[in-house]
Amino acid sequence: MSQATQDSVREDGVIASVSGPVVTARGLDARMNDVVYVGDEGLMGEVIEIEGDLTTIQVYEETSGVGPGEPVESTGEPLTVDLGPGMMDAIYDGVQRPLDVLESKMNSAFLDRGVDAPGIDLEKEWEFEPTVSEGDEVASGDVVGTVPETVTIEHKVMVPPDFEGGEVVAVEEGEFSVTETVVELDNGEEITMHQEWPVRQARPAAEKKTPREPLVSGQRILDGLFPIAKGGTAAIPGPFGSGKTVTQHQLAKWADADIVVYVGCGERGNEMTEVIEDFPELDDPKTGNPLMARTCLIANTSNMPVAARESCIYTGITIAEYYRDMGYDVALMADSTSRWAEAMREISSRLEEMPGEEGYPAYLAARLSEFYERAGYFTTVNGEEGSVSVIGAVSPPGGDFSEPVTQNTLRIVKTFWALDADLAERRHFPAINWNESYSLYQEQLDPWFVENVEDDWAEERQWAVDVLDEENELQEIVQLVGKDALPEDQQLTLEIARYLREAYLQQNAFHPTDTYCSPEKTYGILTAIHTFNDEAFKALEAGVPVEEIQAIEAAPRLNRIGVQEDWEAYIEDLKAEITEQLRELY
Ligand code: ADP
Repeated sequence: MSQATQDSVREDGVIASVSGPVVTARGLDARMNDVVYVGDEGLMGEVIEIEGDLTTIQVYEETSGVGPGEPVESTGEPLTVDLGPGMMDAIYDGVQRPLDVLESKMNSAFLDRGVDAPGIDLEKEWEFEPTVSEGDEVASGDVVGTVPETVTIEHKVMVPPDFEGGEVVAVEEGEFSVTETVVELDNGEEITMHQEWPVRQARPAAEKKTPREPLVSGQRILDGLFPIAKGGTAAIPGPFGSGKTVTQHQLAKWADADIVVYVGCGERGNEMTEVIEDFPELDDPKTGNPLMARTCLIANTSNMPVAARESCIYTGITIAEYYRDMGYDVALMADSTSRWAEAMREISSRLEEMPGEEGYPAYLAARLSEFYERAGYFTTVNGEEGSVSVIGAVSPPGGDFSEPVTQNTLRIVKTFWALDADLAERRHFPAINWNESYSLYQEQLDPWFVENVEDDWAEERQWAVDVLDEENELQEIVQLVGKDALPEDQQLTLEIARYLREAYLQQNAFHPTDTYCSPEKTYGILTAIHTFNDEAFKALEAGVPVEEIQAIEAAPRLNRIGVQEDWEAYIEDLKAEITEQLRELY
């Protein structure tokens, strides 16, 4: 939040009542969603209801000790974020106050109140390199210069969306703070490296397009079976210990996004601390630079006021849109949207609104979809292509997917990665349940995989899905009568399915090679198993007993393809040996 908003203070009001994060005030001159400062300490809040003289405010800071009679000031402006260089490598709280600044101002993170800190350092100087000259015409959204924001990211300074644009009459070059004018237009508009934007309003774009490129994650089960598009939406439920953290780290590290915005929303303090401690340690495998050089962390832990869970979600998506406008592919991860929904429920019940399903407000679905709708693949205002992909974690209590937050999320998102506690217990990682997960992007992404990987990408995948489906059905019989009671061809199907699970679906995030699997290698592993399948069934038809087929020496090597650096040669050899060893049996 910018301090600039404090300049336009309107008429004061007085606190009438305080109920947790919900405060009512009388005599306040404010509009819906205006930011207000509450009480003697000036706690930040937002107007959420106006009824006659009574204004209801959700307060983003702890309200204990605040009481009736204390003043309330309206800023007359909605909640905004500061946008500009310095957001990469930053760690923010739910209202975009940098945690390191808070810490030095307050001597403790998380427990401060009433402290204002701008989201970006207003004094720090950045090296501005103009890309326009005097006499050039620029329109709203156009890039006027660049700043090396971090070792990885070049920040593009754009004409703000609410500027008219015009002819450039003055251009600076060199070191400037974000508040200094770097480009001046003939209509008097002065462009700085700093923009503010109201978080509840999507930043404008020229066109939202159908996403046709995958956000390649390097995780076989995701890219191979349940791909998400660049600009797509996904939900991932994360029961404790099922590998949510590892999956998120893997996506942050390997997904082919330029920028990662990670929103930790209402999770327990120690889990968020883990992220805050872990992320700065991680290297970006693509550049060798620190991962934080292309990452922004927003941390709102469960011990922070619930209302700020909502603001951290909106702050995150607005920052993501801003980098999208520069033409970047941004991946936003929100962990967990369930905690945000719980915050809505708490505020709603304090407002005594009519509760919907399980006490959640009736507008739960609308809020969730407003958030996910800001994802997408766009032509930006300045004609670039940029995307925001949103991956929302959900924490269904007891792992029960029928609860309202999971159900409403599933209606909106197009990819669902069902983390499964049972698989995790069996040490099948990533513990993504292939029977429950799905991706509605498959068909629109297939042409990309066909063009960039192999012609029969979709057919190979379908073959694998069919075998796994068949295994699923056979398992029921096996549980009743045992595997040996099955006919030999079905026993062989189970063996093929086992290799699909072990060699293809499982992937070790901690192995230096297996941690990332290119789509080509993902496809390669599938074809190796498919070769085994075809040759094994030929052998079976020729009368070879299934035990002998299973026992060939080469087959278990399928499980080691993942860890091979030189996988192409390895697969080639393996296919030849499997074929040879099976044909020797008849
Ligand atoms: P959660 O965050 O859901 O509680 P974690 O992500 O911490 O769970 O995962 C728990 C453990 O599971 C990890 O410490 C790790 O041993 C194992 N694990 C999870 N995912 C993988 C993976 N892809 N590869 C290897 N091990 C994994």
